[in-house]
Amino acid sequence: MKVFYNPVQKTHILTHEIIAGKRYRHHEKKARLENILKHLRAAKRFDVCIPDALPIEAVLAVHDEGYIRFLESSQMLSKEEVIWPYTFPNDRRLSIREPVTVFTAGYYCFDVGTPIMSDTYIAAMASASGAYAAARHVLETGEACYALARPPGHHAASALFGGYCYINNAAIAAKYLSQKGRVLIIDFDFHHGNGTQSIFYNSNEVFYYSIHGDPSIEYPYFSGFAEEKGIGEGLGFNLNIPIEPMVGAAEYLGEFKEGLNQILKRFDPKYIVCSCGFDVAEGDPLGHFALTPEHFYELGTTIKSLGKPVTLIQEGGYLVDRLGVNVHAFLSAFL
Ligand SMILES: [Zn+2]
Repeated sequence: MKVFYNPVQKTHILTHEIIAGKRYRHHEKKARLENILKHLRAAKRFDVCIPDALPIEAVLAVHDEGYIRFLESSQMLSKEEVIWPYTFPNDRRLSIREPVTVFTAGYYCFDVGTPIMSDTYIAAMASASGAYAAARHVLETGEACYALARPPGHHAASALFGGYCYINNAAIAAKYLSQKGRVLIIDFDFHHGNGTQSIFYNSNEVFYYSIHGDPSIEYPYFSGFAEEKGIGEGLGFNLNIPIEPMVGAAEYLGEFKEGLNQILKRFDPKYIVCSCGFDVAEGDPLGHFALTPEHFYELGTTIKSLGKPVTLIQEGGYLVDRLGVNVHAFLSAFL
């Protein structure tokens, strides 16, 4: 299987984060990539390639130009500077001024765990390049393809970063594929992909399906509820299945399959884009489900059995030592 990854993605180094007032070593670290790569290389069944740079039009198809220009401007920071947004506009009806410097980054941000540094933009663009290259490969060959994306993307909206995400990798892949036919995004990350949902909320070309920890008690808290079904033309093209944390893996997989069956009765996708969040793994520090490699293999088999070309995009997963084993088990289903 082709895997797209660029070493530039490792240059984005996050030191710490504050969650509910407590300081932690940042969970989104480059060791995540290294562990996955180690396992995929050892398996010798994966062809790891550096993706070409992606056309800016593919990024602007899902993100606001002002937002991308803002992210790009972070390259002006010194190596030591880190921008932590801490003030946010709370009434978007006001004529809030767009930020002129990264110091008013809260304009484009929704949480406090996602800092910006001088390498953030190039790392995020490299990550998105992998997603775009994977989608292109799927389009050209019909074979499943995996983008080892990092930073992740599914929390990034068209003009908002947060949740460790800056550019929405899965949305770029889905938007590109949607030029050729309807796309189903399957997001199994432990956290609701609020960014992806918002980007396609009024679309009937891209169906967003997410199964995740119940947002009434889990990040990102303000979206991911079952009643969010889309708006306008997109009404009926968004399905959220919030699950109580600590649910057993068998029950989780049952809910996952039930959700898919519901969708496929009324939506026939030509392509599938999968936001693969391995923070649903047993023992993950940021998730509370309990999937093991066997369950990831079953999850992969279920998606493969739909018989559609699949673009697989890495999202979360923070149990670094087990990440590669879990990713390998999942990808094995597509070989
Ligand atoms: Zn997550």
